[in-house]
Amino acid sequence: MSDVRTDAIEQAWDGVVATARRTAADGLVVGTSGNVSARIGGIVLVTPSGVPYDRLGPGDAVGVDLEGRQVLGDMVPTSELPLHLAVYRGSDAGAVVHTHAVHATAVSTLVDEVPLVHYAAALLGGPVRTAGYARYGTQELADGMLAALRDRTGCLLRNHGTVTYGDTLDQAYDRTAQLEWMCRLWLTASSVPGLRPSLLTPAQLDDVRDALKGYGQPG
Ligand code: 13P
Ligand code: ZN
Repeated sequence: MSDVRTDAIEQAWDGVVATARRTAADGLVVGTSGNVSARIGGIVLVTPSGVPYDRLGPGDAVGVDLEGRQVLGDMVPTSELPLHLAVYRGSDAGAVVHTHAVHATAVSTLVDEVPLVHYAAALLGGPVRTAGYARYGTQELADGMLAALRDRTGCLLRNHGTVTYGDTLDQAYDRTAQLEWMCRLWLTASSVPGLRPSLLTPAQLDDVRDALKGYGQPG
């Protein structure tokens, strides 16, 4: 492999490790729960299964090709490889983040779709769906997730957690953080006895989706 390519992989691996550590530091996972990946060319860098993120160093990169064949590293890849590969095969995603964020996971046990309590849903492409329950690490879970992700960049996994993807690790991470925040908001608003939260209409959300195209700094 050329030096340029090796440098790019090392840099991407640093990003994967930093993002995985961030999920733990920000309380979106406990222990070795969750997993993170990033695509670089035809290689998908993934966190290894069951290894605390603070133990991962620059020399520990684990990589697979889109068929799941290991092309880099000695450690066993995340058990959720089917889920990560399903996202990459079906989209232009550059990064995928899976967590067990507590409010989002709580909401996954309650609803098929996160109620439209906030326009942040537009950051995920629209109302966020809950994929049906299947055991962790299975193709069945990956298939259910793909269906829930149609026209979305994130979904809930029933009684399990969250999945989001983006062009970059930062974007995928931010979508997870927004999803967890929105689920927390809905749980908070809907737990006031005798009152029910008002919800946005699909038309109001479409309006936000258009407005967000011009959000932030130009360029
Ligand atoms: P891994 O440690 O194998 O990545 O599994 C964690 C997890 O969240 C499974 O759903
Ligand atoms: Zn999980």
